[in-house]
Amino acid sequence: MNLDLRTMMVMISALSLLFSGLLALVGLHAGDARGVRQWALGSLCIGLGLAFSYTQLEAPPNPWALVFGASLALTGTGFQFSGIQVFKTGRCNRYIPWLAGLAFYQNIWFSVLHPDIHARVIANSILFFLINAASARALFVPVEQPLRTAYWFTGASFVIVSAMFLIRASVVYLLPANTYGLYVQIPLNPTSFFVGGMTQMSIVFGFVLMLNYRLAAEHQKLASTDALTGVMNRRSLELETTRLLARCSRSGETLAVMMIDVDHFKSINDRYGHLVGDEVLKHLTAIAEKSIRSGDYLARYGGEEFCILLPASHEKDAWILADRLRQVFATTAIECGGEALRSTISIGIADSKHAGLEFNSLMVAADKAMYRAKQDGRNRVIRHSAHAYA
Ligand code: GH3
Ligand code: MG
Ligand code: MG
Repeated sequence: MNLDLRTMMVMISALSLLFSGLLALVGLHAGDARGVRQWALGSLCIGLGLAFSYTQLEAPPNPWALVFGASLALTGTGFQFSGIQVFKTGRCNRYIPWLAGLAFYQNIWFSVLHPDIHARVIANSILFFLINAASARALFVPVEQPLRTAYWFTGASFVIVSAMFLIRASVVYLLPANTYGLYVQIPLNPTSFFVGGMTQMSIVFGFVLMLNYRLAAEHQKLASTDALTGVMNRRSLELETTRLLARCSRSGETLAVMMIDVDHFKSINDRYGHLVGDEVLKHLTAIAEKSIRSGDYLARYGGEEFCILLPASHEKDAWILADRLRQVFATTAIECGGEALRSTISIGIADSKHAGLEFNSLMVAADKAMYRAKQDGRNRVIRHSAHAYA
């Protein structure tokens, strides 16, 4: 493969600067997109570092240009690692100034004070190897899909580039003394720049992919949860119920559902204000979350009405859980301006065995049972199949 080193260096440098601008734009428009600023700085430093190195393709090179080129590129790689940490944890590590210092120091040592091109290339390659390997390690961690695909894609790119630097260090180590230079025509130079350039591109694509999946997951969460209580909203309740009912029709299981409504909630709002009303809803959510099993689902149906889905359960099983929830809610007070505020709930129960395998029929049945509980005096649990309805 007869690759031209000059053209490749110009292309990779220009592309890195372009990526830096692209990442900066992404960071500007993606709100609190964590880590993007570090990634943009990383690409900027790598692009500038390569531009400095490009000026040294003719022998004899200017040692200070070599120092700046290699140190900037190393600092850029450090920023990429730091960006990954910030993306994952929101916290920025403090290694970057140390890393930049170390890179400058060792490049000044081997380029200016005690010029030794082999030692310089080996030391730089080992540093590049270590930082890229640290980035790869930070990305091969368990995380939910589809973010994992983006993590692993980016991590694989870091593995390739770190392996390339290890090979580069080994090859230069094995070369006879004073035979290596960027201007020396050996396959090592174009090959490592080709691999380095390609992996830089895939790393930046990987970052954008990670960001994209993170934002998509955040939007998905916002679209499926209730803003006040943080439980599933009506939309995801419908989707989840339909999914569970389809499973029931395949397996013959029964799905039970509880419709919960706060009693005289309007008068709580009227007497204490809407903010206290909101607190009552959050209080009910907290109690309900504690009483359900791990496979059950809690959702806000609307207003002061909540719904609990109980897979593999019948009305009778649901009744036991519902009555316990009713009792706990009725006996646990909320502190409100020095006053203990107590409230009650009415619960209607239905199951797919009696009400059918459709979202609407199941909800209508649970709703009817809940209104029956209201008619019978509130603060009680009624099973749909236990009554005849007009
Ligand atoms: P019942 O015992 O028959 O259920 O009487 P109720 O007063 O609870 O029933 P009604 O449906 O008349 O009142 C529901 C009230 O819930 C009316 C509405 O203002 C209030 N509400 C709906 N959503 C919210 C909310 O997010 N926060 C607050 N504070 N109130 C809400
Ligand atoms: Mg209501
Ligand atoms: Mg009510």
